[in-house]
Amino acid sequence: MSDTGILTIISGFSGVGKGTLVKKLLENYDNYALSISATTRQMRVGEKDGESYFFLSKEEFENRIEKNDFLEYANYVGNYYGTPKSYVVEQLKQGKDVLLEIEIQGAMQVKKLMPEALTIFVMPPSANTLKDRLVGRGTEKKEVIEARLGRAVEESQGIENYDYILVNDDLEESTKRLNELISLAHDASFRNYNFINKIREELKVFRKEI
Ligand code: 5GP
Repeated sequence: MSDTGILTIISGFSGVGKGTLVKKLLENYDNYALSISATTRQMRVGEKDGESYFFLSKEEFENRIEKNDFLEYANYVGNYYGTPKSYVVEQLKQGKDVLLEIEIQGAMQVKKLMPEALTIFVMPPSANTLKDRLVGRGTEKKEVIEARLGRAVEESQGIENYDYILVNDDLEESTKRLNELISLAHDASFRNYNFINKIREELKVFRKEI
């Protein structure tokens, strides 16, 4: 096991069940810490401030952008969403495997800053499953569901940039597979970017010399 934790970014279309998957991962295994995001969207029934999200006004959110408080932030269907930086940095230092459940723009921002982060895109077994889940959940109005499905079409263009695709067909199985992928990332020889960069630099020097 490496000393610092692995940062895992989990993205996926709205309604794919990422939230449930992450919840299950936290329930079943010990070493995970979930980053709680800030958002300007309205609180849903059953959500709590500081648990589901830190619910902020647009002004509060923009103040925090100014203060450079976010590791990343993005606009999703008309609202801001962002990852508070200090929690992530602290937990990783303590060796926790930190989970970010964020959309694609934010995921790419983090990947740029921290190329060693593991990126996983959760897919539904079919597009119909997604529509059924979004409608069945009953938490959003028709216009919002439409906007979220539109966003899913957009996001589907960027999936190739992720390290892994996880098809969420069975919750228990998917949770196990997710944990396995993160465990693999702890293997230094598998994802040791410092090592890869060192070899790359040495190769360049070697090439100039011959
Ligand atoms: P929801 O409104 O359904 O809770 O979330 C909408 C989208 O925002 C989801 O794709 C979710 O993963 C994403 N999201 C949640 N928190 C963050 C965040 O901190 N940053 C970014 N970039 N996206 C987030």
